[in-house]
Amino acid sequence: MDRIYLDWNATSPLLPSVQDAMTEALESVPGNASSVHQHGQQARSIVERARRAVADAVGAPGQSVVLTGGATESNNQVLRSHVRRVDDPHIVCSAVEHPSVIEVVEQLGEEGVEVAICPVDEAGRLDREYLRDELKAGATLVSVMWANNEMGNLYQVGELADMIHEYGALLHSDTTQAFGRLPIDFESSGVDIATLSFHKTGGPKGIGALVLREGCKVGSLMAGGHQERGRRPGTENVPAAAGLEAAAQAVDEQVETWQQEMKQQRSTFLEQLREAIDDFEIRGHTEQCLPNTLNLAFPDIDGEDLLMALDLEGVSVSSGSACTAGSLEPSHVILAMGYDHDDARRSVRFSFGPSTSQASLEEAADRIGRVVRRLSNI
Ligand code: PMP
Repeated sequence: MDRIYLDWNATSPLLPSVQDAMTEALESVPGNASSVHQHGQQARSIVERARRAVADAVGAPGQSVVLTGGATESNNQVLRSHVRRVDDPHIVCSAVEHPSVIEVVEQLGEEGVEVAICPVDEAGRLDREYLRDELKAGATLVSVMWANNEMGNLYQVGELADMIHEYGALLHSDTTQAFGRLPIDFESSGVDIATLSFHKTGGPKGIGALVLREGCKVGSLMAGGHQERGRRPGTENVPAAAGLEAAAQAVDEQVETWQQEMKQQRSTFLEQLREAIDDFEIRGHTEQCLPNTLNLAFPDIDGEDLLMALDLEGVSVSSGSACTAGSLEPSHVILAMGYDHDDARRSVRFSFGPSTSQASLEEAADRIGRVVRRLSNI
């Protein structure tokens, strides 16, 4: 039985070009990018190429790019360094942010910083009036993700930027799930600081980035060396940077094609599921959404039970964020959308990528149909 991987929002398989670039760097680039000799310079040029490829892939040529250890680190760095840099910090984030934003905001609140968590409605849409009131009350930084990892909802951050800037606050956006799924144009978006990760779209894990609009600054989370102009100490991960460059180039060249293909695949997959199963609910926004993500709930079936049963049938899916998997609590995202605990526990996330074939989605729909019918009978 071939296994079918439908958990790309947790992580994705490496693109062949990424694997080649990383292998080449591992085998032939021994130097430290901070060393002045030629081995060092060879490593340095890989890191600088990666930085430029990131800027190109998100439409931010000439903007400052800081390489980090992933989106979790990038998010922590933005929020924590803001508090150190600003006189009266006041941070607002949406109730559906990834734990690497929302939990940091909660921690900062416990440490005495003024914070607020902006509610969403049943479709996951932000309460803009609440946000405006927080801005009027002196908010200095607003963090709203570009796309949600569990529901796939898009957040139209560009539309929020004007309001946020009107009150002199900064807009930070976590683009982890959007990168490689739809085009990102940082320059025109109005976002001041963007968080990026690359492993949801064929890139390496354990490397991420921050893109900073001219004039925006972040401090370091850690003390140590002067790498990344003092903003991220520690020896650069050169093989990961080589892989990042390849992933960013692939995204730059192909994201529009991937977006169209995945959109088509998503709608065919839904049709096939409708043929296989009488009744299920689609959660989240059905228009303003990622092309690769479907959050579904099946009547009277617990999401964890379905996940386990599908795993035995060779289909890998998720019942929430991988970062909170294993927790008995339902996802904070679905609770924030107003579902009660039992209802929230029924959510299952299906997510795929550009190399997922239509045939494997069709086979997955068949297997999902069989498992749902079996669990419904129980
Ligand atoms: N933000 C979002 C929206 C995510 O989906 C994830 C990955 N689950 C992260 C941040 C964390 O990314 P990383 O694994 O690079 O730390």
